[in-house]
Amino acid sequence: MTLTEKLLARAAGKSQVSAGDNIWVNADVLMTHDVCGPGTIGVFKREFGQNAKVWDRNRVVIIPDHYIFTSDSKSNRNVDILRDFVREQEIPYFYDVIDDPNGAWKFDATKGLLKRQYGSQYAGVCHAALPQKGHTRPGEVLFGTDSHTCMAGAFNQFATGIGNTDAGFVMGTGKLLIKVPSTIGFRLEGKLQLGVMAKDIILHAIGEIGFDGATYQAMQFHGSGIATLSMDDRMTVANMAIEAGGKNAIFPFDARTAEYVDARTRLNGTRSTYEPVEVDHDQKFTREIVIDLSKLEPTVACHPDPGQRKSAKELSHIQLDRAYVGSCTGGKTSDFVEFARVLRGKKVVIDTFGVPATPEIVHDLQNTRWGNQTIWDILVSAGVQMTENAGCSACLGGPVDTFGRMNAPMKCISATNRNFPGRMGHKESQVFLASPATVAASALAGRVADPREYMS
Ligand code: SF4
Repeated sequence: MTLTEKLLARAAGKSQVSAGDNIWVNADVLMTHDVCGPGTIGVFKREFGQNAKVWDRNRVVIIPDHYIFTSDSKSNRNVDILRDFVREQEIPYFYDVIDDPNGAWKFDATKGLLKRQYGSQYAGVCHAALPQKGHTRPGEVLFGTDSHTCMAGAFNQFATGIGNTDAGFVMGTGKLLIKVPSTIGFRLEGKLQLGVMAKDIILHAIGEIGFDGATYQAMQFHGSGIATLSMDDRMTVANMAIEAGGKNAIFPFDARTAEYVDARTRLNGTRSTYEPVEVDHDQKFTREIVIDLSKLEPTVACHPDPGQRKSAKELSHIQLDRAYVGSCTGGKTSDFVEFARVLRGKKVVIDTFGVPATPEIVHDLQNTRWGNQTIWDILVSAGVQMTENAGCSACLGGPVDTFGRMNAPMKCISATNRNFPGRMGHKESQVFLASPATVAASALAGRVADPREYMS
């Protein structure tokens, strides 16, 4: 069996499953956020009763992150709906925007968009927060009301996005009926070269198969090249499985996975036992694609979908209006480090926005020094508008006052993960997806640029 089949067989209490089988699986964690949480709660209450209790309050994780730093009152109210539910259900894992459990969230626009407006519990973008807060464990099943839940596949999990109706059902029962996906294997070999990042791996992979090339299939990444990838790298790759239509992404378990998970569960006092799934030698893929990491180039996915692959060099004629680094895919500490490595001592020539995915990343960037400057200061000195208000921000467009949102037709190069029309705001804007290094080079050039032009 493939990693996904083995994991689902175990979650269903079966010794064997095959692609296409419909099976009931037990959930280990259900995650929801401010956009889908209120709808999920509504379904749960409608189907299980107003006084129903969630199946296991320790396995429901609620992370407001999407439309937070906005004056839109309905968006603010969504966070309050989550807080009311958490209080009623006594759910321990709620990463509230404010510290008062009986308070109400209201964004204060007069304070501006750059300075921190959250309390001590706030955790930022759900997919980056889940591992940081110790909720990702190898061998587990994670359902989340968000399509990029697949990011946790980096931790040898079965992690997938589900709709509010399914999530309401999981909330009440802890189970879900799913069809076992078939698996495409991606064998990674070699090592990335200077200026090439994990984002380039996944943009290359999606370019190979198209933006619907893995529809309802598992994308399993394995091979000797895995050992060269950090957990941040693996998260970037797994995050975008859905951009090829994938049901989930999955990586093998290794010492690096264990080190990360053990440290995070210990730090946060979350469940620390887990049972990874190992690769079977007789596993069968629908196809296997070999990627030599050492041959990859800085890559860009052009408007209007993530499968429109070109090399950054081929696109040097594309003039840009904006650059953006942030999101679950591209807003991690390592992403900002590479962004800063290219920008250090230089100035951007187009509007450039930086949105760390989580408060912990803000802290990292503000406390890591290169010489006499922090990474944060290097980015600000280069002209990047850095916000401390970690979250999804303009990755999903959001209300019109969202930081970095494109409110007019323009061309933006972005370290985010999705570029369908209207994704980052105005429906006639164009988004070019790239690595943080490529975004940095492009912000310096005002056109799509290969980061190696700025590296020695
Ligand atoms: S950062 Fe973007 S892709 Fe990630 S969860 Fe938020 S809106 Fe979705």
